[in-house]
Amino acid sequence: MKKVVKFGGSSLADAKQFEKVGRIIKSDESRVYVIPSAPGKRFSGDTKVTDMLIKAYQIAVNGGDLHQQLLDIKARYNEIIEGLQLDFSLDDEFETIEKNLKEDPTLDYAASRGEYLNGHVMAKYLDYEFIDPFDVIFFNEEGNLNTYKTEKVLSQRLAETPKAVIPGFYGRGKDGKIKTFSRGGSDVTGSIVAGACGADVYENWTDVSGFLVADPRIVDHPKSIDTITYRELRELSYMGASVLHEDAIFPVRSKGIPINIRNTNRPDDAGTWIVESTARKPQYMITGIAGKKGFCAVDITKALMNSEVGFGRKVLQAFEDHGINFEHMPSGIDTMTIVVHEDEFLDKEQQVVSEIHRLTHPDSIEIQPDLALIAVVGRGMKSAYGTSGRIFSALAHARVNVRMIDQGSSELNIIIGVDEKDFEKAIRAIYDIFVMTQL
Ligand code: ASP
Repeated sequence: MKKVVKFGGSSLADAKQFEKVGRIIKSDESRVYVIPSAPGKRFSGDTKVTDMLIKAYQIAVNGGDLHQQLLDIKARYNEIIEGLQLDFSLDDEFETIEKNLKEDPTLDYAASRGEYLNGHVMAKYLDYEFIDPFDVIFFNEEGNLNTYKTEKVLSQRLAETPKAVIPGFYGRGKDGKIKTFSRGGSDVTGSIVAGACGADVYENWTDVSGFLVADPRIVDHPKSIDTITYRELRELSYMGASVLHEDAIFPVRSKGIPINIRNTNRPDDAGTWIVESTARKPQYMITGIAGKKGFCAVDITKALMNSEVGFGRKVLQAFEDHGINFEHMPSGIDTMTIVVHEDEFLDKEQQVVSEIHRLTHPDSIEIQPDLALIAVVGRGMKSAYGTSGRIFSALAHARVNVRMIDQGSSELNIIIGVDEKDFEKAIRAIYDIFVMTQL
């Protein structure tokens, strides 16, 4: 049994958190590869080390004196090193960082040092070998992961190294310089390492006990999800639910390695399992609810639209020509609605409308703003009766007007459009009907 374990910034924010992490790793011999993030916030209002490093970079490019900023960052690490009573110093490392930032400051180099330094502390603390991702994770010309080269070099290196700490978040760019993933990218590193060593499981340790059925800022103490499929996760993440970096799924998914989201502060909680496929039924018929505000609907009406071949293509062409993604496209016989992100659309609104006029000669075009979309997601909905019935009667009881409905034939999700002012109320009503009534 081989496990890859990734710990997020809040799990490594100070010496006390490090100790919890140490206990977790030592309690299971199979936790052999450890991916640390940079130290995160110790309390709300605190600054993440990555953000402190980004500030150091900004000071450097503006020709300022970054010494004090680096001393503040060093103090964060020293607090951890002293708290863990390690006989170890990062003085030389900080000297090198200061020199490099003065000579040739790059944002990615600066941002990556949080993980790099934390990796050294972690390796010392656990007495594991340190592997620098600069030597084993590679990006291609386009700035994406070079999967082939990374897999080849990394798996070879891991085969020679039974236990190692591999810092998250960065690797080597095609230009030979340090390159980072986007923010939160240590999740991706963990997944790459798990894929490369053929792990049995990729454990992703954070500060929540897995995915929740709904957003805790909207629903009071929502239940957590015990098992979710990759496809369900993708639907929910797309609609705003976030625990894991989006790109963290791909390296493990293709190898059938499950991800287990765990809580460093509650290590006995089972957390959420993210799997390719499962026979486990979701506890509440639905798996999760997520949503976003900030959409608008463009309604196009034309008599006999139904018999005009190519009408839809021409409408979509108008959006495509202006680089606007469309989210949904419910239609009637003589009407069709295109749902788009308000912030992408607003600036180009009138150009798009006139292009639709020019291309399709509709009877009318009406734009309706302030639309919120809610996705009710669940593998359990397939071929089950009554799911949508329950959703809509719950919304009716809550006096929420439904402005749009979209359900794909995969039956994995139902998308509901409501007024932004009804967004929270609608989510609570749907949560209650599926979760609270089943308790
Ligand atoms: N430290 C980086 C960030 O704050 C990467 C990570 O934590 O995954 O985004």
